[in-house]
Amino acid sequence: MNHKCFLPLLLACAVLIGVAGLGISKSTNSKIRVLIIDGQNNHNWKDTTPFLKEQLEKSGKFEVSVATTPPRGGNAQAWEGFKPDFTACDVVLSNYNGPQWQPESVRESFEKFLAGGGGLVNVHAANNAHNGWKGFEKATGLLWRGNKDGARVYLNELGKVMRMEVGDGPGAGHGPQHEYVVKVRQPEHPITKGIPAEWLHTRDELYHGQRGPGEDMRILATAFSAKEKRGTGVHEPMLWWIPVGKGKAVTNVLGHVGNLQKDPAMKCVGFLTLVARSCEWAATGKVTIPVPDNFPTADKTSQVD
Ligand code: ZN
Repeated sequence: MNHKCFLPLLLACAVLIGVAGLGISKSTNSKIRVLIIDGQNNHNWKDTTPFLKEQLEKSGKFEVSVATTPPRGGNAQAWEGFKPDFTACDVVLSNYNGPQWQPESVRESFEKFLAGGGGLVNVHAANNAHNGWKGFEKATGLLWRGNKDGARVYLNELGKVMRMEVGDGPGAGHGPQHEYVVKVRQPEHPITKGIPAEWLHTRDELYHGQRGPGEDMRILATAFSAKEKRGTGVHEPMLWWIPVGKGKAVTNVLGHVGNLQKDPAMKCVGFLTLVARSCEWAATGKVTIPVPDNFPTADKTSQVD
């Protein structure tokens, strides 16, 4: 090569490197892509999906899109319109409680997404869904099922994880809504790091006796299910995660909403912080979202407006 054509070549290289560099910095700075799935739920998904989307986007970390299934009873033709593109998201936030997604190819692509390093965050009744879908049930661990439908996992008074097999003890249920203390069990986990060891959750249902495969569960937080609130008298898992291949599935059973004006559970700053941090962590393995100053304390609840 003579030196006359060396300079243009050098410039061309510099431009190429610059373009590649921009590409890299763009993807590093880009937001975490959350896909909320809704469409069926015995809770008010039409109000809670936009609410969750707004709350997540407020953090500046997320870009949220929504995929909606056909309504209950939809036939195969109705389900044809349901084609969530899991390759275009980093984490799925399930606000869905209904039968297994159709067709089978959707379930398969979701399992592939999760095993390949994707994230799943189930909120409240999302763990009631997908009866019989083994991949989802394994990833979720404990579900709203009867006592014949799986093992039960809870913590005893010493904080030891206990397991009851099929048929022993209660199935899934809850007593009347009330305020209750959520107890962090893994304070060094990125999702719960810096959160008060015990904090008072806004009035909500307290799920108990949940059932499922219950394997590989990392229980991050529990709540004591008091007998006088028609509970079980033990510490029930409220927030946990399960590794699935390279992916992570987080389940958070707080957040009952029949009517967003009357049921304040999802407005709890504790609930919202956990959901945002869970989405960030399930997508990236890291948490940068801070614990807000108005986080609930051991004796004081806190809600967003
Ligand atoms: Zn509920």
